[in-house]
Amino acid sequence: MSETNTARTVSGEDEVVDLCRDLIRIDTSNYGDHSGPGERLAAEYVAEKLAEVGLEPQIFESHKGRASTVARIEGEDRSRPALLIHGHTDVVPVNAADWTHDPFSGEIADGCVWGRGAVDMKDMDAMTLAVIRDRMRSGRKPPRDIVLAFLADEEAGGTYGARYLVDKHPGLFEGVTEAISEVGGFSFTVNENLRLYLVETAQKGMHWMKLTVDGTAGHGSMIHKDNAITELSEAVGRLGRHTFPVRVTKTLRHFLDELSDALGTELDPENMDETLAKLGGISKLIGASLQNTANPTQLGAGYKVNVIPGQATAHVDGRFLPGYEEEFLADLDRILGPT
Ligand SMILES: [Zn+2]
Repeated sequence: MSETNTARTVSGEDEVVDLCRDLIRIDTSNYGDHSGPGERLAAEYVAEKLAEVGLEPQIFESHKGRASTVARIEGEDRSRPALLIHGHTDVVPVNAADWTHDPFSGEIADGCVWGRGAVDMKDMDAMTLAVIRDRMRSGRKPPRDIVLAFLADEEAGGTYGARYLVDKHPGLFEGVTEAISEVGGFSFTVNENLRLYLVETAQKGMHWMKLTVDGTAGHGSMIHKDNAITELSEAVGRLGRHTFPVRVTKTLRHFLDELSDALGTELDPENMDETLAKLGGISKLIGASLQNTANPTQLGAGYKVNVIPGQATAHVDGRFLPGYEEEFLADLDRILGPT
């Protein structure tokens, strides 16, 4: 009997957990400023796993350590447009002290794999790899070309991952007409007989801001009218407490109509508080799909209790609905006041 007949075939299911754990153990924290380790090791790991099953992945490094891996799988019918399946290999930085399990251990406990990226999105990277490897091992060609992309820098805007590839190597995506990745939607359990699978149709635009107030530095014991911290705090407070107007896009209106039918209750987008109260776990998500948002997320100023600093800064995560960027910018001007 030959060895191939006796060897048990490795299935995607057998190896998906190991792939995920291996990826979690590679620290790919993205601080947005190249101070992290970068995604290079993850890109090499992914490339190795794809090459093992006969693919020819390429690694693209946009900045030292910031690397993405891309491979194309030939489909049965090469005249058909291609499908892009993409994931990101970077993760948001962690404060390890807050974690029950080491965030870079890939530990298995309580029937779960633990670690940074276990749900965003080294899990899906691993599932994609496992399925592709399984198909390649069994010689099954996809009906059309598939482009696989494992990207750097998703968590800080994509400049060193997706943006870099699209700008510098657009040929990689030639013929691609659709793409699949994470967060296509969340399931929403209405009752034990009905679960809805929400499909994402578009994303909000990002408008991250850094607010800077320049004042006059001075001693904390003096009368001081021009305090940068006071000025900035007021602006941040106004912005953080502001409720942006409800704007119902065509897609959202259609979605709420369908959801009203499924729930058997009227969901009126003009009456947002009442509508969101009926939506339980997905109310934050749906609420954010009905208005622009601006959440202050970071503050910085001062270094000593008796010194008034000359400058104070704040970062704000702003997001606008499709078609409402102009309105958002005008609202910001009005709320923040003259620059
Ligand atoms: Zn993600």
